[in-house]
Amino acid sequence: MKIIVAEHFGMCFGVRDAIAKAERLASERPLTILGELVHNPVVRERLRAAGVEEDRTGSSVAAGARAMITAHGASDRRHAALQASGVIASDATCPLVRRAHQQLKALVAAGYFPVVIGKRGHVEVIGLTEDFPVAAVVESLADIGSLPPQSKYGVISQTTQPLDRVREIVAAIKQSHADAEVRFVDTVCQPTKDRQRALRSVLAVADTVVVVGGRNSNNTLQLVAACHAAGRRAVHVERAEELSAASFADAQIVGVTAGTSTLPDTVASVVARLEQFARIAPPNQQQKTPAS
Ligand code: SF4
Repeated sequence: MKIIVAEHFGMCFGVRDAIAKAERLASERPLTILGELVHNPVVRERLRAAGVEEDRTGSSVAAGARAMITAHGASDRRHAALQASGVIASDATCPLVRRAHQQLKALVAAGYFPVVIGKRGHVEVIGLTEDFPVAAVVESLADIGSLPPQSKYGVISQTTQPLDRVREIVAAIKQSHADAEVRFVDTVCQPTKDRQRALRSVLAVADTVVVVGGRNSNNTLQLVAACHAAGRRAVHVERAEELSAASFADAQIVGVTAGTSTLPDTVASVVARLEQFARIAPPNQQQKTPAS
């Protein structure tokens, strides 16, 4: 069994910086993160061990206490509410999420009806749309029929969406609203694009791909979906201990990739465990080995 690791995989700079910020702040005084800093259980365990609390609504955070907005960002409305409550808010919004906010604001200011391609209910999408109550969230082609009639649509996407699918949805909006002006600004972040591109190279040769990342991590699930779309077997794990040798008995070439919130150590443990499996001959081959 041969193991190949994708050229780009795992933790992005936005998540890395947010974790470093949380650990630094928590070392100074108690810190509550407003939601999951990242959708990865290994990272969350590490932060809990450092004394970091999580509270999605922030209702448990008293005035004067410190809370942190995650890399996924938040609306202006949320920022203002935090300020009004007297909470000391630290902002770990990724600069590329901030760019998506700026682009949507600019489109609305220019008279475009706001459309966000992304996962409805995802914390980043909530943050992007909360300041624009009329904004439409398009999760799939099926949602396009529900767009209200407008003369100008301004379209951006959640930063972790697959660019191919985003472009497909934009093309479909243009086709179904031929009389309207549709302006698309690409806000898929570069680390997401790099991981998707690197996975395509892996899929060209691998029969099985191990995808490491949180079960509720959107970009990890997109990597799994890309494997399935290419007709490859995807083994989605959050940590190395979940892998069993039996699952790789027939695998010839195993690719490895990871979502943007996965720690490098977690990926290294997964690769080490796969290498261990590769050194063990499958049981059928062991039976064929003549006894000395
Ligand atoms: S996935 Fe992209 S947008 Fe999200 S934190 Fe990482 S770099 Fe920033």
